[in-house]
Amino acid sequence: MIVNMRKSITLLIFYITLNYCLCIKYHNYTLYRGIPVTDHHLYFFHNLSIMFDVKFWRPPGLMYRPIEFTIKPEDKGLFLKMADENGIYLTTIIPDVQRAFDMQTVKTYIRRKMETFDWRNYFRLDDIYSWMRDLNRAYPRETQLASLGQTHENRDIMAIRIVLKGSSLRSTVIVEGGIHAREWISPAFVTYFIHEILRARHSTDSEMKKIAMTYEWFFVPVLNPDGYEYTHVTDRMWRKNRRGQFGVDLNRNFAHNFGTVGATFHKNSEVYCGQSAFSEPETLAMAKLVQVNSKNLEYYLSFHSYGQYMIIPYADTKKHIENFHEVKKMGLQAADRIFGKYQTYYTVGTSYDTVGYMTSGVSGCWVKRMFRVP
Ligand SMILES: [Zn+2]
Repeated sequence: MIVNMRKSITLLIFYITLNYCLCIKYHNYTLYRGIPVTDHHLYFFHNLSIMFDVKFWRPPGLMYRPIEFTIKPEDKGLFLKMADENGIYLTTIIPDVQRAFDMQTVKTYIRRKMETFDWRNYFRLDDIYSWMRDLNRAYPRETQLASLGQTHENRDIMAIRIVLKGSSLRSTVIVEGGIHAREWISPAFVTYFIHEILRARHSTDSEMKKIAMTYEWFFVPVLNPDGYEYTHVTDRMWRKNRRGQFGVDLNRNFAHNFGTVGATFHKNSEVYCGQSAFSEPETLAMAKLVQVNSKNLEYYLSFHSYGQYMIIPYADTKKHIENFHEVKKMGLQAADRIFGKYQTYYTVGTSYDTVGYMTSGVSGCWVKRMFRVP
């Protein structure tokens, strides 16, 4: 009996150690959605962060565009009262955000067992990198691994280059993931993209095979490794990199109209652009990769969450410039195909057209302008 009890106590302690986490918890934080239908409503949402500690999952933009944000449990009463007084209609998307986070599973990858990597779970940075190393071992002639540089916390920013055997090289594609720490689906998707390109050689899908064989591919699945790890161990809602205590929004740090619109020089802001363009090791590393491979660069793709949007440059203007219409046509074709397959409706346009706000210092805008990438 005593032996059994000791055993269960030991087991219990073991169990607690495994699951014990110093993370910030978001118990009873609620994710609300509001739709502004008057100027007054829009003003209310724009000023929400003065009154409350809100985290926007969809920031305010134009009228009639849904806005989504979390409110702390202790603020909910006052917030709901104020929303009601201002005639704002709200819907609850996730009553308890922490419960939703707890349902996201993080699995361990077992080295040299590539079947233990999947897309039904998330993985820590080291596991993603181990999987990439194993891919390189499995396809030594078709893949190359490189570290583009180190972060503030001395983590590598890993890239994988893929050129399939017998491919008829035309031009280059660069794929960026995980620039925003908390957008876990982005690195997960980019690793899936890598997997699909490598698998396409043996695919019966001739279209997919042709695409995979046509390009030289570069993938950077986790451009913000420090931030990504920070969301796993400390704060699931972290967005920026880990410069100092405050961090820099890497997708405001590129040298395209740096610090002008949709970004601030306030360190505590979620969209702090940093002291100067390319002040951060992560953006500088990506810039170098792009520059070195810019000669035949045809596509630069950057994956974010969440929302069903295909956002085309430029993010800092309302105008449709350069080859916008040509790219939009392709985007609409893609959106149609996605709708046909999943009945998911994607909106195609500039940042202003889609999410309803403008931003500067964005990676894709810098790449397109600087190297005339179509
Ligand atoms: Zn993002």
